[in-house]
Amino acid sequence: MENVLKNFNIIKQEIADKKNVKLVAVTKTFPISHILPVINEGHTDFGENKVQEAMEKWTSIKQDFPKINLHLLGKLQTNKVKFVLPLFDYIHSLDNNKLASKIAEEQTKKNFKPKIFIQVNIGAEPQKGGIEVSNLENFYKKCVDEYKLNIIGLMCIPPFNKDSKTFFIKIRELSENLDLKDISMGMSDDYMEAIKQGSTFIRIGSKIFGARS
Ligand SMILES: *Cc1c(COP(=O)(O)O)cnc(C)c1O
Repeated sequence: MENVLKNFNIIKQEIADKKNVKLVAVTKTFPISHILPVINEGHTDFGENKVQEAMEKWTSIKQDFPKINLHLLGKLQTNKVKFVLPLFDYIHSLDNNKLASKIAEEQTKKNFKPKIFIQVNIGAEPQKGGIEVSNLENFYKKCVDEYKLNIIGLMCIPPFNKDSKTFFIKIRELSENLDLKDISMGMSDDYMEAIKQGSTFIRIGSKIFGARS
């Protein structure tokens, strides 16, 4: 736990000259006591995977630290969308129509527009979330034109145990085709490669907070 701040500052140093890269500190499974040193250091961007856990952990902290941006990284069920706005400022895991439609409804109701990444199933893995590459352009257009969502970029989680680089390159090409500026890719093991390939949001958990049990 004393290492958290040290780990955090090492990464901050590594990316100090990458002015357009945002570090999302991924805090899932860790209690606020573990995260507070990083909050007190002035860091503003934190990522969680589960809505319920995030509500319990972050609702009051966000009131104390209004500059904090919370990022939802995990699979989002439509029946949880009502809890997600306005707690989360970013959603990285939009990957289906029903969810897009529900977020659209909720953002109008709450008058709060989250920034959204479309998750792409870049390795075409059946067990993984994300829009298929072949559906991406249509889905993107629908999100913007019909649902009026604030889509800022694409997100991916490359297949486990494979070299991420080729998947990162593919995501960057898809982003360029859609003229999207932001890319959410890169985790503890591959964030430097992700930055090389154009990532603007790296999501780092274990390299800051330690292994999750
Ligand atoms: C847990 C998680 C991360 C962080 O993973 P680490 O390997 O611990 O850095 C990043 N992105 C998503 C979507 C995650 O679920």
